[in-house]
Amino acid sequence: MDRLPKNPANYVPLTPLTFIKRASMVYSNRTSVIYAGVSFTWRQTYERCCRLAYSLRSLNVVKNDVVSVLAPNVPALYEMHFAVPMAGAVLNAINTRLDAKNIATILCHSEAKVFFVDYQYVPLASEALRLLDARNMAMPLVIVIDDLDKPTGVRLGNLEYELLINHGNPQYPGEELQDEWDAISLNYTSGTTSEPKGVVYSHRGAFLSTMSLIQGWEMGTEAVYLWSLPMFHCNGWTFTWGVAARGGTNVCIRNTTAYEMYSSISQHKVTHMCCAPIVFTILLGAEPHERCQIKSKVNILTGGAPPPAALLEKMEDLGFHIMHAYGLTEATGPALVCEWQTKWNQLPKDHQAILKARQGVGILTLADVDVKNKDTMESVLHDGKMMGEIVLRGSSIMKGYLKDEKETAKAFQQGWFLTGDVGVIHPDGYLEIKDRSKDVIISGGENISSVELESILFKHPAILEAAVVAMPHPKWGESPCAFVVLKKTGSTTETEILAYCRKKMSKFMVPKKVEFVKTLPKTGTGKVVKVELRKVAKTLQIS
Ligand code: ADP
Repeated sequence: MDRLPKNPANYVPLTPLTFIKRASMVYSNRTSVIYAGVSFTWRQTYERCCRLAYSLRSLNVVKNDVVSVLAPNVPALYEMHFAVPMAGAVLNAINTRLDAKNIATILCHSEAKVFFVDYQYVPLASEALRLLDARNMAMPLVIVIDDLDKPTGVRLGNLEYELLINHGNPQYPGEELQDEWDAISLNYTSGTTSEPKGVVYSHRGAFLSTMSLIQGWEMGTEAVYLWSLPMFHCNGWTFTWGVAARGGTNVCIRNTTAYEMYSSISQHKVTHMCCAPIVFTILLGAEPHERCQIKSKVNILTGGAPPPAALLEKMEDLGFHIMHAYGLTEATGPALVCEWQTKWNQLPKDHQAILKARQGVGILTLADVDVKNKDTMESVLHDGKMMGEIVLRGSSIMKGYLKDEKETAKAFQQGWFLTGDVGVIHPDGYLEIKDRSKDVIISGGENISSVELESILFKHPAILEAAVVAMPHPKWGESPCAFVVLKKTGSTTETEILAYCRKKMSKFMVPKKVEFVKTLPKTGTGKVVKVELRKVAKTLQIS
């Protein structure tokens, strides 16, 4: 047969922007966004995006300009996920839990041309802008997003979001995308183990990741999605675009308090939500007056940190249906999902939770995932024991780090993206994380997984949270040191915890020290800052 050449006339760049145009036609009158007392249909949301994109162009925003935003999960941030790339620009949603210095660094590094600020963050943004000015850096154009439900009148400069919407053109079709590899968004890593880096996503990567995740999670067209995951985390792990792809309904909330989540779930019959495992602690710890009756089947996709099996079991007991995903900023959010197999339904609940706590298998658009010896790049055995570095290859992996060719080159080896996470592959092909490579404890030449130790400690009836790090040991080089937060009602001693550990784990894994603390140091994303704990551990005496 003749080999037909490529047909450039037939080339349409992949982009998630097509989802919203489709939703505005197919689901024009269906509710797209609900926030407090306000709601929109898909037709209205699409028109608002066209208007905003048009206004951004009128403000001289051009292709590849960075538009930063500091906002909670409000409709404006949702709309910007479409409007900013429709204007040809790149969306940079900043983590609202960062301090002014870090925000200033991001604005400076990304050379943000426009900076949208939710009224709630005006004091924080003002301080960041002051720092930027003090460094003599170019100042972005600042636009405040006032509350849509109850406008406050808080301003920082003359421009307000709704003004841009009002002056925009609802018929503006958006700039034509020529190349699917063009940047759509810029997300900074949370910097748990190194300095935050600016990760650039392409339209193509965002499209393919979104498609894989709505498929992997079996998200249907009637989905009612609660925004319990910040949209600034990997673009809400791509569900900003994903809900539009399904013509579902976005339930936007400002705060993820137990009451706000339970009441939204109950009132709007939420069917889907994403969150880090830390949110489970909030839902499980809710007081009776904060809980509401749940009338819908709620599917939760959790990731961002390892969820202990016992925590997953408690959430399932509460009636939630959990799916576990693993990913990182560089992989456009989840790269693996713990795809459930119906044969596992026959297993006892605690065994199911152990299987669910594994990080799983690559999403469909990931070409390949493996665990390799980092030095030789040889694959480990699929025996659930041999540890190595988790490596990924495929279309959802980032384009690279902004203005950092050296780090981009270092992130890849033989075409594989190195995650910096250590894991094993089980005989059934499912992958399990054992640690971040920097957190593995090497004691007398044996690798000890802090994640494994933490999940055992988590099962102790008096323990609310635990984090294990390495402490120097005269004989073994390093040994595990456990930092433990007790439940309000919990009471125990170091001796008792150590006796518990001896029963549950191999001798070499038993911590050499248990330190009781009131809270664990955490990043804005709820990850434990182990660097800080390691510093403390160095000063402690072995028991
Ligand atoms: P940073 O690397 O700065 O923390 P990210 O926010 O991208 O930035 O975090 C990605 C990391 O989060 C992964 O490399 C991994 O260590 C951890 N992580 C994400 N999902 C999971 C999960 N399901 N289980 C265990 N760890 C996870």
